[in-house]
Amino acid sequence: MRLSSQSPIPWFDGFLGVAYRYYDLRMNLVPLFEDRQEATNLWHDTIYWWLDPSIKIRFVESGDKYWFIMGSDSQKPDSNMSFFKVLAKSENYERFKKGHGGEAYLRLGVYSKKSLDGVKKDALCNCGHAAEDHDEGDGDACLYNVCNCKKFSSFQVNLLRRKKTITDIGYLAEDDVKDDPLVWNCMYVNKGIKD
Ligand SMILES: [Zn+2]
Ligand SMILES: [Zn+2]
Repeated sequence: MRLSSQSPIPWFDGFLGVAYRYYDLRMNLVPLFEDRQEATNLWHDTIYWWLDPSIKIRFVESGDKYWFIMGSDSQKPDSNMSFFKVLAKSENYERFKKGHGGEAYLRLGVYSKKSLDGVKKDALCNCGHAAEDHDEGDGDACLYNVCNCKKFSSFQVNLLRRKKTITDIGYLAEDDVKDDPLVWNCMYVNKGIKD
């Protein structure tokens, strides 16, 4: 397969991952960034110019991992980019897969880690127990006998306000990637699959 003579759309994987949140009566698909300014710039330079009906989201599952692939036609092709990331399957991923019903909002999110003194008592630690069950006097260790969590850790996702509506969401088996030009290009460029 040859790319067309016009310059190909570059692939971008410099984001942290993807969150799936039920919010505003619809599933939200949220590429995550560490830095708010970076997310804001990327929205203004690239995603803002996407035509909603042309936004494609593709998932290719491979064992306990999956490829997240996202691309779109743009009103400003010069600064267009396509996104991909290989991620571990998660409960939220499975929930999105079952629950999106063919539509979702695309927003960007800012991911921040939280320590024990920065959260409310009922905030959940990554160990599954609440902040108030962690002992501030003992290195933030979890107080549950059965739990070997030594330090409270949690994260928060702040969603940026702007959103796009996605209506083209597809799941492909690894054997079928050649049938989808966006996915095939992603695999060709980023995974080195040969014809
Ligand atoms: Zn904990
Ligand atoms: Zn715990």
